[in-house]
Amino acid sequence: MYKRVLLKLSGEQLQGKFDGGFDAERASWIASEIRKATAHGTEIVVMIGGGNYARGAQLTGGGVQRVTADNIGMMATMMNAVALADVFNSEGLPARALTNIKADQVADQFTHRRALSHLEKERVVIVAGGIGRPYLTTDTAAVSLALELDCDVILKATKVDGVYDSDPHKNTDAKRFDTLTLQEAVERPDIKVMDKAAIALAYDHDQSLVVFSLLETDNIARVIAGEPIGTTIS
Ligand code: UDP
Repeated sequence: MYKRVLLKLSGEQLQGKFDGGFDAERASWIASEIRKATAHGTEIVVMIGGGNYARGAQLTGGGVQRVTADNIGMMATMMNAVALADVFNSEGLPARALTNIKADQVADQFTHRRALSHLEKERVVIVAGGIGRPYLTTDTAAVSLALELDCDVILKATKVDGVYDSDPHKNTDAKRFDTLTLQEAVERPDIKVMDKAAIALAYDHDQSLVVFSLLETDNIARVIAGEPIGTTIS
């Protein structure tokens, strides 16, 4: 059983039954799944993505600069974080949203001390704004945050049940890994579970990850209990 985990949720996972935006029903299902794990005392930090609203790389062009597009992406993560915190609280899972971009009206600024204080009070900490700088993703921000908050593991929730050497939705011969080393994940071009900046940071600091499928009942609790589901990268 892990004591403190960093759960990386992408924006896409919050759009649920919609083509984009925020599905409160999906968010409340995630709350009920996380609650099963917090019942055993595990502390949860969530790094939230924003791809259900905007991704910097896709938005760049036609006059929109990359920095502007990335700022929009970071604001998207903020929309997810505040909505998710509301749903978690309404489902009886105490949670607070903290942001790495300045938006005092919307959410409290992330600080190390504030995050630890919420965790001590058994609140889920949901972090928005990635690292707060352009040309990065929330995956890299997730690794940085896991290191900063001394999380035991990064749990990267995905649509598939682990890491494959090619897209299993497109290639029926795709090979699935139970385990990988951080070095393999950095070096192999066919391992695309996270961007290389994120994996390299994990490799440099020996931060282990588990990539697992979100949408199966009890998977969050099982992965937090240390059951061998998904792909472990360590
Ligand atoms: N972003 C950024 N800096 C960060 C984190 C995110 O500029 O530290 C921007 C970037 O444009 C990214 C967008 O925010 O595409 C949304 O994050 P991400 O693509 O990681 O979301 P996800 O795919 O996990 O939903």
